[in-house]
Amino acid sequence: MAAADAQVEQEVALGNMRRLRGLIPIFLVLNLLLLAVFVLGPASPMSAMQQQWWQAVVQVYAGTSTWLVLVLLATWRIVRRARVDRAGRVVQFVAPLSFLVFTVVLTALDQWITPNISPYLLGCMSVSLLFLLPPATATWLFAITYGLYFVAIGLTQTDASILLSNRANGFGATLLGLVLSLGLWRRNTQYLLLQRELTARNATLEKQQDELVWLATRDALTALYNRREFMRLAEEELRRAQRHGGFTSAIVIDLDHFKVINDRYGHPAGDKVLVHVAQCLLGGVRGTDLVARIGGEEFMVLLPRTDIEAATQLADKLRRLVHAAPASIGRDLQIPVTASFGVGCLPAGGDGAIAPLYAAADKALYDAKRMGRNRVERVEPDASLTPSDFQRMRR
Ligand code: GH3
Ligand code: MG
Ligand code: MG
Repeated sequence: MAAADAQVEQEVALGNMRRLRGLIPIFLVLNLLLLAVFVLGPASPMSAMQQQWWQAVVQVYAGTSTWLVLVLLATWRIVRRARVDRAGRVVQFVAPLSFLVFTVVLTALDQWITPNISPYLLGCMSVSLLFLLPPATATWLFAITYGLYFVAIGLTQTDASILLSNRANGFGATLLGLVLSLGLWRRNTQYLLLQRELTARNATLEKQQDELVWLATRDALTALYNRREFMRLAEEELRRAQRHGGFTSAIVIDLDHFKVINDRYGHPAGDKVLVHVAQCLLGGVRGTDLVARIGGEEFMVLLPRTDIEAATQLADKLRRLVHAAPASIGRDLQIPVTASFGVGCLPAGGDGAIAPLYAAADKALYDAKRMGRNRVERVEPDASLTPSDFQRMRR
């Protein structure tokens, strides 16, 4: 049998309470209707025995109505708190038990006028179908009920052979109820466990998918966007700019004499410098700007809705940030680092491709390198690029 742990029991118990809350009002109406039928009912004069039966049945229905209201209040409270605690577990046991006791009492009273045991049969079947009871609870419940039934019909049924037959039939009904109840419990817990496993697997898959997306779009060393993702996002941004107008700017950044850093301190230290510069850049831009590592020691920043003036100012701020903060490698090694910055700008109205903007910024970077490094150069939006600029861009 599937292991029914505490959480499954909790879910099942809450389900029972919800079902009870929905069903009790129906039972209550039915009970009151039956009560009305009995109160108004007796058309023909009754014998003393029938009179005694009639009064007892009316009292049972009246008592049951009150009891149903009490159980309804208890289930409302439990469902509202969405937790089945100790008191809830008592209700979960007492509610079906009281329902079964009700049918036992009715069946016993019926023995005064008929050998019928229909109320008891109906009781066993409905409890096993309407409640999901843990196996131990179900076994106790049906055992106690049969014990009560056995004694109760013995008090009212005077015919020994009918009594024997009713006890045997009642035993069959009880056993059937118990077997049904055990089977339903098993099915339901298996279903719940399966559902839980599916939910867990889904969560794992979603996590793995997130990891894959991360790996496909990020640079493994600096965690910035990688070149491909940056270009995709940048073109998306340029298309947006086409609709809304305004300028889009870009800054291309290349570390100065980075080869020397690698040669002097080793590649692992060079890697740490790259991470350090990435953090400087991220720390200096706005939330809406995109920052990427587009090559070995080259970075690029896209500045949506930014003209060349603002972009140049930001580039110079970034340049100063990089220059001012040497990379801390280990406990007592500080590596000073500088970078050159090329700024390009594109007015809205192009075809949404990043190439001209990249070419402009890259040309400006080339100028910055040529003019001495650790500086910012820019290419005006309308400055035309020569074919050799594009060639250099594609290298
Ligand atoms: P310049 O100022 O002209 O840009 O000189 P530079 O030395 O920075 O440029 P160059 O293109 O000659 O060298 C770039 C170096 O960057 C060479 C390459 O070994 C190094 N590099 C590229 N990718 C990585 C990386 O992921 N980690 C490390 N540590 N070094 C890298
Ligand atoms: Mg370089
Ligand atoms: Mg380079």
